[in-house]
Amino acid sequence: MWSCLLLGVLSLVPSSLACSGCSGSAGYVEHVRHVKRMQPSAINATYGPTRALEWGQLNFLHTTDTHGWLEGHLKEANYGADWGDFVTFSTRFKHQAGNMGVDLLVVDTGDLHDGAGLSDATTPDGEISMKIFDQVDYDLLTIGNHELYLADIAYQALNEISTYWGDKYLTSNVQILNQQTGEWQYIGKTQRYFTTQHGLRVMAFGVLFDFTGNTNVTKVIPAKTMVTQSWFQDALNCPEPIDVFVVLGHNPARGGNTGSTFPIILDAIRAVHPNTPIQFLGGHSHIRDFAVFDSSSTSLESGRYCETLGWLSMSGFDATNSGFNGIVPGPAGVPNPTRKATQNSTLPFVYSRRYLDWNRRTLEYHAATWYDQSFDYNNGLAATAEITKYRQQLNLSAVYGCVPQDYCMTCAPFNSSGNIFPLLSEALAETVVNESRNDIPRYVIANTGSVRFDMYKGPFTYDDQFIVSPFTDIFLYVPEVPYALASSLLGSLNNAGASQKRNLGVMPVERDICVDPPLGQLGVRHEEQHVSPRITRRQVIDLVPGYTTSDDFGVDGDDTVHSSIPHYEIPDFFQGEGGFDENSQPDIVDIVFVDFIESDVLAILGSNYTSDDVSYYIDADFTTRDYLPLYVKNSEVFQAGLPNCTVT
Ligand SMILES: [Zn+2]
Ligand SMILES: [Zn+2]
Repeated sequence: MWSCLLLGVLSLVPSSLACSGCSGSAGYVEHVRHVKRMQPSAINATYGPTRALEWGQLNFLHTTDTHGWLEGHLKEANYGADWGDFVTFSTRFKHQAGNMGVDLLVVDTGDLHDGAGLSDATTPDGEISMKIFDQVDYDLLTIGNHELYLADIAYQALNEISTYWGDKYLTSNVQILNQQTGEWQYIGKTQRYFTTQHGLRVMAFGVLFDFTGNTNVTKVIPAKTMVTQSWFQDALNCPEPIDVFVVLGHNPARGGNTGSTFPIILDAIRAVHPNTPIQFLGGHSHIRDFAVFDSSSTSLESGRYCETLGWLSMSGFDATNSGFNGIVPGPAGVPNPTRKATQNSTLPFVYSRRYLDWNRRTLEYHAATWYDQSFDYNNGLAATAEITKYRQQLNLSAVYGCVPQDYCMTCAPFNSSGNIFPLLSEALAETVVNESRNDIPRYVIANTGSVRFDMYKGPFTYDDQFIVSPFTDIFLYVPEVPYALASSLLGSLNNAGASQKRNLGVMPVERDICVDPPLGQLGVRHEEQHVSPRITRRQVIDLVPGYTTSDDFGVDGDDTVHSSIPHYEIPDFFQGEGGFDENSQPDIVDIVFVDFIESDVLAILGSNYTSDDVSYYIDADFTTRDYLPLYVKNSEVFQAGLPNCTVT
């Protein structure tokens, strides 16, 4: 991406974009000059890993919940690599595995869009980004819930993703209505039985959690049902030998109260295969995690948004327990996994896991060998150049304004000045306005789950519109609600905790949103790691904030050491308050809210209100994706910094 690539990409930039201060006709500034840190010159990390990866006999590179972030993170040094870099890296790792006499499986566990402009600025979503995604030579993939909200996206999964990947695309419990025959069919394959290059006989499944928010042209079969189905039982009892099960899942890695259905799959397999290794690879909850299920079964989850590349390796195969014909006990010249899954394990299997930060420094460090220190391959460079080209075609770097400071979702207390929600409340108040009702005060209620990412100081681009608020929920309203009732609505929605929600018969946040616990959450859950001196004080003095993960193997999973990011709880809903008179209380207020909470709002307002009282506040085209860019374009503060707006 640096040096040679930079030259290649610069030549792609039309000369008209090189001038300074060009004005666009659409009322915003075409200020490309200030977004030079687009992916060709994205910021690199200031420091990186210090430990080689442990290579086993069977190794996994794992991506999940990429949500369209194939350009990488243009404003964050920790995650500046792009998909082209990963194309190169995965190709190099496949070569290295071959040279070492071991197996490497590259796997993805779904949620391919809703999160960045490259995937979301096209109709339908993913039209361009899928072509780039497909350039990684995956061995196994599975579907995420974000492939199932809308019918056209679900059919895209069938017609494009499943068709392209064929036997490698596993949707063991997800079906779609065949429009020609009227029959239900699986989007991908239910299972894949195959033999690796080095003789391991693998049975693989791809299982989505028990998702219920899917479009009605699709069907998600609950895991409990799936494991009783004859195809699944036949797969477990197949006459061919199985050396290892690989269970992909858009499913949290860990069981317990996470909503993961992995434990159900585990039990079902164990009933037939008590000791065969089962490797789970999960996603959806957007965290780094590694869980031990038993002495030959572990589960890895590899974060979100092209921030994390997951690494898992295992050894313990030989001629007595498998068809493995590669290196025994493990590859030479590199560290090997040494840890049994459980302390009392009597099985030969040993494991290692690592969470790699998604930046060039990391990828170059791990790809380097004694005989080849270079990094780029032509296939990766081509993907990088393609991303640049498509970003330009989609005009993703058009600048709408200059963000004066960082605004995060959870690293600062809710309603504090560093938190994004006060800003978004103001944006809702100022931009969600029906001119004909301008004189009536309004509460504009949105869900915090509609906000997907922090806003960083520097240019706010068309791309950021998708990054911060990618969903397209329409604003509805109930007119002229008495003030006393209207003013208590936000509190009622937020207090509708699990039990009250059940009482009300409503679930205000059921509109998915892969739960988005940002970076600090694991750090908060495992407070003790913050003071663990073993890693954090070893060699880096000024640690950059980032992931500080604690999992079933301890706190050494993060490949690069970081300081932790604080995490504060946020409520489910927030609101903008527009048109109020500071000095007097109104009698009536318009209640404006995002469409999918209509039934919740009506339930709280009581029996005097029905869906007949609800209509569009503006129109069907103005959505949660539109209010923030409009605010940025109209805000004096966001426009004032434009002449000298840079990423810092
Ligand atoms: Zn996700
Ligand atoms: Zn998800």
